[in-house]
Amino acid sequence: MLFVAVTAIIIFPVPLEWSMAIAVFVLGLYLVFQLQNPEIASGNALAGALFFASGVVATVVARRTASILAHKTFLLELRDRSRLAELTDANSRLELLARTDPLTGIANRRWMMDALKVWSDEAAQSQSAAILMCDIDHFKQLNDSLGHAEGDRCLVKVAGIIQSSLRDDRDQVARYGGEEFLILLRDANEEEGVAVAERIRRRVEAASLPNPRSSVGAYVTVSVGLAVLKHGGEGVSSEVLQRQADEALYEAKKNGRNRVVLHVPDFQSASA
Ligand code: GH3
Ligand code: MG
Ligand code: MG
Repeated sequence: MLFVAVTAIIIFPVPLEWSMAIAVFVLGLYLVFQLQNPEIASGNALAGALFFASGVVATVVARRTASILAHKTFLLELRDRSRLAELTDANSRLELLARTDPLTGIANRRWMMDALKVWSDEAAQSQSAAILMCDIDHFKQLNDSLGHAEGDRCLVKVAGIIQSSLRDDRDQVARYGGEEFLILLRDANEEEGVAVAERIRRRVEAASLPNPRSSVGAYVTVSVGLAVLKHGGEGVSSEVLQRQADEALYEAKKNGRNRVVLHVPDFQSASA
C-alpha cells in the first residue's frame, strides 16, 4: 500500500496537500499494522515508519521541485518567444522606416538604390526596362511664393499622382531627393516608358496645384527625362541608364519644362 501510494505521488501531478494527506494516511496505517504485530518491537516499528516517512518526504519534495522547475522553464520559454516576436516586429518596422521617405510615404532613395542593384542583376538577363527622372518645375518659386509648408503639400500630392500613374507592381517610384522622383519601369519598351511619363506629366498639370511664379504657367508642372534599356541590350548598367535619364531631364528643362524627353543620341523630344 505504501508502495502504491508513493508511486501515485511520483507519477501523477498530485497537489501538495493531497500528497501530504496520502503520505500521512498510509504511514499511519503502516505504523498501526507494525505496532499490532507481536513479533516486532514498538521501537523497531516506529523506526521503520520514520524511515519510510523520510523516503516519502524526499519523494514529495523532489516531485514538487521538479514541477516548479518545469513551470519556470515553461514561463521563461513563453517570455523568450514573446520577446522574439516583439523584436521581429520592431525590426520590420525599423526596416520599413529606413526604406520610406517620411514626407511623402513612398520609397526613399536608399531603397531605390537597392532596387536598382537587384534590377541590374536582372538586366544581365537581358530584360528591357526604363528609368524616369521626374522633377517639379520651378519648385523653388513655389516655396518662395506660397511657403515651405505648401511646398511640402505639393510634394505629397505629386508623389501620389506619380504612384497612381504607374502600370502595376513592376513599376517602382522613390523620392530621389528634394523635388525629384526616380521611377523604374521593369519590362518596358520606349513606347510604354513614354506613355507612363506622359501620363504623369498630364495628371500633374491637370491637378492644378498652384505655383503662381512659375514661368511655365500658374500651376505646378513636371519635367520627365527617360532612358530605356532595350531587350537584349548589353553592357548598360543602372548608373549609365540613370545618367542618360538625367541628361534627358536636363534637355526637358532646357527646352521649356513641362515636357517628356526620351534619351536618344540626338535627343528627340517625345512631347511638348
Ligand atoms: P527647375 O525647374 O529647374 O527644377 O527649378 P527648381 O526651382 O524646381 O529647382 P531648384 O533646384 O532650383 O530648387 C529646388 C527647391 O526644392 C529648393 C529647395 O528648397 C526645395 N526643396 C527641396 N526639398 C524640399 C522639401 O522637402 N520641402 C520643400 N518644401 N522644399 C524642398
Ligand atoms: Mg525642380
Ligand atoms: Mg531638382
